[in-house]
Amino acid sequence: MSKYHRTFRETLHSLFFGKQCALCHRHAFGMTNYVNDQGKVIFICSSCRIYAERRAFRKWK
Ligand SMILES: [Zn+2]
Repeated sequence: MSKYHRTFRETLHSLFFGKQCALCHRHAFGMTNYVNDQGKVIFICSSCRIYAERRAFRKWK
């Protein structure tokens, strides 16, 4: 598999299964946006939200 194919498949996957959680790397819907230590916007699923709050990630709107 070429790199392109993998990327394309991941893109399709995210279209069908939602965005990828930055912590558990699972695809889910209803994610919360957070800003991490580097000031980057990340997506956190509902099961990792507690962990994100503990890491003091700021909510991003
Ligand atoms: Zn998660």
